[in-house]
Amino acid sequence: MEYRFLGKSGLQVSSLSFGSWVTFHTQADENLAYELMKTAYDSGVNFFDNAEAYAAGNSEIIMGKVLKRAAWKRSDLVISTKIFWGGPGVNDRGLSHKHILEGTNAALKRLQLEYVDLLFCHRPDVYTPMEEVVRAMNILINQGKAFYWGTSEWSASQIIEAHAVARREHLIPPLMEQPEYNLFKRDKIESEYTHLYKEFGLGTTIWSPLASGLLTGKYTDGIPKGSRLDLPDLAWLKKRIESQGMQIKVEKALKLRDIAESIDITLPQLAIAWCLKNENVSTVIMGASKVNQLTENLKALDAVSKLDNEIMQKIENAVENKPRPEINWRES
Ligand code: NDP
Repeated sequence: MEYRFLGKSGLQVSSLSFGSWVTFHTQADENLAYELMKTAYDSGVNFFDNAEAYAAGNSEIIMGKVLKRAAWKRSDLVISTKIFWGGPGVNDRGLSHKHILEGTNAALKRLQLEYVDLLFCHRPDVYTPMEEVVRAMNILINQGKAFYWGTSEWSASQIIEAHAVARREHLIPPLMEQPEYNLFKRDKIESEYTHLYKEFGLGTTIWSPLASGLLTGKYTDGIPKGSRLDLPDLAWLKKRIESQGMQIKVEKALKLRDIAESIDITLPQLAIAWCLKNENVSTVIMGASKVNQLTENLKALDAVSKLDNEIMQKIENAVENKPRPEINWRES
């Protein structure tokens, strides 16, 4: 495993990490969740991602049980949760002082933990003043219930505002952002945040490296039974992905698969290795509903060295994105 500093902090996260969205509770019971987390841990993964919203809290309950059963040393782990959607009540959602504190306390109970290492604001909350959000996150850090705080899918200007408030009030600013990043979704990481890496030492824990499975090639001949887009609870996700040009992406994935095969790796390995090539990515959060998927994807680390300039250019041509000269790709 390779470990990277999370932004400018002294904390090191495995460059490949594992998250429980969709899978825990919906596709994976406690036993499968244990197998998945153990497979990841045994390969050196130290960062496990969760959220109060995942399976309405059941994902945290399952992860808590797995952590108890596995009895790994707490200091070897980096555990996160995210606060925003905590239930149906008017004050069970958003980033009010009340919900950030109540939501985090409830999440810690479900996870059976005294603290999370990383605590995210799962989305921006336009109804809560920034100072209220920054103060609430600072209270939890001061109470020792979270070590670092960050954001997910915030705009660059919202992150800048949080830093300005923190500087003015002598509070701790956000350290990391959790945006979507994959071959089909690049703008935030490659354009919008570029000045934040240097200016604030922003770390990134990126999600959906396989675009929910589109970048595995599994949707070439329709929607396979039991796959993510076949899950009844996720009809909304299927609708969203279809409305965002699914067919074009499926066709691009086929071109990418040919490139992967030409260097003896699989398409998921190519897609994940491509994310790892970006120096501004601290960790790639993987998802998997089966142990063999995870075993395959973990080998993406070895595939990074195969993505030389020529292959990177072929990948660009296959996804037909404009050239982006400002990216600092890691040397192969
Ligand atoms: P991916 O885009 O990598 O999708 C993972 C899914 O793709 C798996 O669950 C599986 O779905 C399929 N898959 C993975 N590997 C393979 C393979 N080798 N062969 C075939 N199919 C495969 O990541 P996720 O969307 O799951 O996101 C990862 C994590 O990021 C989440 O668990 C969560 O922690 C975080 N996240 C954060 C968000 C945020 O708003 N902050 C939003 C979304 C995710 P299946 O088998 O069911 O088809």
